[in-house]
Amino acid sequence: MSVSRTTRFRRRFYPEIGLREWNDWRWQLRHRITDLEGLDRILSLSPDERAAVQRLERLPLGLTPYYASLLDPDDPTQPLRRTKIPSTTEFVRHPGEYDDPLGEEAHRVAPGLVHTYPDKVLFLVTDFCATFCRYCMRSRLVGQGAYVPNTAMWEQALDYIRAHTEVRDVLLSGGDPFILSDDRLEWLLARIRAIPHVEFLRIGTKVPAVLPQRVTPALCRMLKKYHPLFMSLHFVHPDELTPETARACNRLADAGIPLGGQMVLLKGVNDDPDTMRRLCQGQLRMRVRPYYLHQCDAIVGSMPFRTSIETGMNLIRALHGHTTGYAVPTYMVDAPGGGGKVPLTPSYIAGRQGADLVIRNHAGALYRYFDPGAIHLPRGVESDTILHFVPSGTEDSGR
Ligand SMILES: *Cc1c(COP(=O)(O)O)cnc(C)c1O
Repeated sequence: MSVSRTTRFRRRFYPEIGLREWNDWRWQLRHRITDLEGLDRILSLSPDERAAVQRLERLPLGLTPYYASLLDPDDPTQPLRRTKIPSTTEFVRHPGEYDDPLGEEAHRVAPGLVHTYPDKVLFLVTDFCATFCRYCMRSRLVGQGAYVPNTAMWEQALDYIRAHTEVRDVLLSGGDPFILSDDRLEWLLARIRAIPHVEFLRIGTKVPAVLPQRVTPALCRMLKKYHPLFMSLHFVHPDELTPETARACNRLADAGIPLGGQMVLLKGVNDDPDTMRRLCQGQLRMRVRPYYLHQCDAIVGSMPFRTSIETGMNLIRALHGHTTGYAVPTYMVDAPGGGGKVPLTPSYIAGRQGADLVIRNHAGALYRYFDPGAIHLPRGVESDTILHFVPSGTEDSGR
C-alpha cells in the first residue's frame, strides 16, 4: 500500500508525533501554523507570499497541520495553496469590493444573528475557524478577536428567535461552529431545538475538509439527538476529498445527517469543467449532495479569485445532463447590499413559436414542446411572446 501524502508529511515534519496525537482535533488546533516561521518550515514561499504574510492586515493566517499536508510545498499556484496562503493581491481593493459584501450588518437583529429572509435566520456562533480561507466573505469578523460571542450574547440571539415565531429555520455558522466543544455546541442546539416553531436546524462548516479529526463518534452521537439536523459542508477542490474527509462524512451521514455541499467558484482553483465535475461527483461519493455553487463574493482583495458570471453558467451547463442531477448544484450570486441569494440558471429556452415552447437540451439540440397554457392566451399576447426564433440548423424534433 502506498503511503499517503499526509502520512509522509507527518513523518517528515512531526517525527515525534504518533497517529494518536495527530488524529486528536485539539492537537491539530493547538499546532496550527499561524506565522512565517511555521510556513517556512513546511513550504518554500514565493517572494510574494512572504511579503503578504509579513504585512497581514485583516484575516490572519491559520492552517491545521492536516490541511498543510495537502499543500504543494513548491508550487504557489497549486489550487489548495492559493486558497490558504496569502498573496499581496489581497491588499488591493478594486471598485465594487466591500468589507461586508453580503450586507449582513444591515440585517443584524441580535449579536451574531442575521435575519435577511422571511422564515430563516443565520446565527454566527463563533468568529473562529480551524483554517482561514483567503476569499472569506466574513473576513470583517473572522479570526480577529473583535467579535467573540459569549453566553450572554447567545442568549440575546435565542431570545430573538423565541420571540419571532416566523423563524422556522436556523442556520448555525460563523466562523466554524465545530470549533466549539461538544458541550458548548450541545448547549446551543438543545436551546434552539426547544423552541417549538423552529422546525429545521442546519450547521455550515468546513471542518470535514480542514479538520476531519473533529468528527468524532462522540460528536455524532450528540448531533443525532437534534434531528432534523442538516449540514452544509464547504469544499472547493477535489484534492480536499481525502480518505480522512470521506471517513468524517461517512460518520455524519451514518448519524442520519443529510449532507449538502457548498462550493465557492474560484478562478484558477475550480473554474474549469473537469475540476468542477470531479469536485461535484467526488462529493456524491462521500454522500454529500452538491447544494450551492456560490459566485465568489466581492470581498476586498477578492478580484484574483473572481470569475465572470458566464464562467459559472458554463460550468452548470457542463454538468446538467452530462452527469446525474444530484451532482449539479444551484449557482448563486449574493446580491450586494443584503439583497440575498439569487439563483443564476442558464436558460434552456430558445424561444416560442405559436403555442410551442422551443427548448434546447444539454447537447444543444432544439425541441418543440406544445405548451398547453399558451393556447388560452388572448391573440395579441400570444403573438407578442413569439421571440425571434430562427431554427439554427440543429435538428428539431418536430411533432
Ligand atoms: C445563505 C443564507 C441563509 C440560508 O439560505 P438557504 O438558501 O436556505 O440555504 C440564511 N440566511 C442568510 C443571511 C444567508 O446568507
